[in-house]
Amino acid sequence: MPEDLTLRPFFWRATRLFPDTEVVSRTRDGVDRYTYADFGDRVRRLAAALADLGVEPGDRVGTLGWNTHRHFEAYYAVPLSGAQLHTVNLLLQDDHVEYIVNDAADDVLIVDRDAVETLDRLWDRIDGVREVVVMGDSVPETESDLPLSSFEELIAAADPMASWPPLAEDDPAGMCYTSGTTGKPKGVEYTHKMIYAHAMMVMTPAALDIAEDDVVMPVVPMFHVNSWEFPYAVTMAGAKQVYPGPSPDPADLVGLIESEGVTLTAGVPTVWIDVLDHLDEHGGNLSSLERIVVGGSAAPREVMRRYEDEHDVTIEHAWGMTETMSIGSVSRPTSRMADTDREAKLDKRAKQGLLSPGLEMRVVDDGGEPVDWDGEAFGELLVRGPSVVESYYNRPEADATDFVEADDGGARWLRTGDIATVDGDGYIEVVDRAKDVIKSGGEWISSIELENALMAHEDVAEAVVIAAAHERWQERPLAFVVPKAGRELDVEGIRSFLADEFPRWWLPDDVRFREEIPKTATGKFDKKTLRETVDDPELPYAPGGGDGQ
Ligand code: AMP
Repeated sequence: MPEDLTLRPFFWRATRLFPDTEVVSRTRDGVDRYTYADFGDRVRRLAAALADLGVEPGDRVGTLGWNTHRHFEAYYAVPLSGAQLHTVNLLLQDDHVEYIVNDAADDVLIVDRDAVETLDRLWDRIDGVREVVVMGDSVPETESDLPLSSFEELIAAADPMASWPPLAEDDPAGMCYTSGTTGKPKGVEYTHKMIYAHAMMVMTPAALDIAEDDVVMPVVPMFHVNSWEFPYAVTMAGAKQVYPGPSPDPADLVGLIESEGVTLTAGVPTVWIDVLDHLDEHGGNLSSLERIVVGGSAAPREVMRRYEDEHDVTIEHAWGMTETMSIGSVSRPTSRMADTDREAKLDKRAKQGLLSPGLEMRVVDDGGEPVDWDGEAFGELLVRGPSVVESYYNRPEADATDFVEADDGGARWLRTGDIATVDGDGYIEVVDRAKDVIKSGGEWISSIELENALMAHEDVAEAVVIAAAHERWQERPLAFVVPKAGRELDVEGIRSFLADEFPRWWLPDDVRFREEIPKTATGKFDKKTLRETVDDPELPYAPGGGDGQ
């Protein structure tokens, strides 16, 4: 039965069993509102329009878009047509967008108006894209000869596609790039079966417990790992969904929670820290809201405490990766802990939690031996399961380093690059990261790229960039630079040198000048020791600056 585990029943269930349930989308002009029945009609029209543009099964359709109803429609029309949906972060710097679109060899792009300017600048460097569909009812003027068409005009002109082409569960349905380790971003592909398995896992009470009577607002971007699977899981549940639109600010989010009666929402910690600040200053009514899924970076304990105390909202702390299709563990106390006190429960919630159903894990030391589950011994977290990738797209060298063959005949293990402990109750706690990247407000900054750029400065002898803890952004880049003999350098000079090449939010918050940088036994920069000196009281790192994003 090749068609078993595909996205077809997701679409079928919402449109046939819950045709009157609402989908709400914030746009630049106000709030758009329709039902799953309308959604079904528009998805079928979009699929037909894409076919008219020559999109065939096996093609790849890229998107650069915010969380909107149109992006949601593409999430279904593309894979149900047998093509693959490749979501691209529209906030990336130009050369990353260029690399990712070309590496994936996207055939057609569906983009938000905000991304047209970027593509216009890049157009003569993009290889195979035939058509760019703009999510709106008109197309903007451009400098280049971008082949633009309007999403709404295409939909209006198309007859709804009556039936889907045959789909097989191992067909590619989704794709997302990650910058989780060194080097260029890596493509991660999701088959129909993987999305099916992950969406079902996310819906269960053991993970996020999504039900038909929930009202769900995914704030986590749709360009980031399928918006943590909400557009699929929530549709299968038949629940009302609310898309917060282009760059929503805290006032927009609180306004939507109030007006739509949102019960469940999700995003990186920075978003919810900003919402707390907004509530402090302007007030707001979160009475409908029951839970916020916080992940992508560690959820700060104080933020959890304040949402509970001040707004009666529970933070569901979740861990995951692009390679695990997002949510891989969720942290909440089990029934065994019912009698423990509040602090003990918060201790548990602050950890990354229990592995979600369907997955298996190991935590191993440098020699590959499992560490004790005592909450003290640490090692690298390895995971596997039906929603965990077993290879990257076109990256054999990463396939050789980022996976471990299983010794039990099962699937190979993904090396997460996260260093973790596991306590006696089986709760994972991520204590460090082996990956050479910085995660600021949920998005990666490559320390290697910053280091390479710094080393190219004519007055720099050595440079290294590490992640420094930051109250608001969780991590920010901090540079250590050794000037060449007799040369003078200052912080602003270094930052403006980097500003030519990188967006503002990539620039190190501070640059520390040194006579030398500590090295490991093998002569590499010793980032671990450097990180330790950042916490040294004689070298206080002052959070609060930070351009963030
Ligand atoms: P990405 O592939 O961009 O989703 O990033 C995945 C990485 O983000 C993980 O390997 C962790 O290093 C980090 N991460 C995700 N969720 C958490 C969390 N709840 N706590 C700490 N780190 C996290």
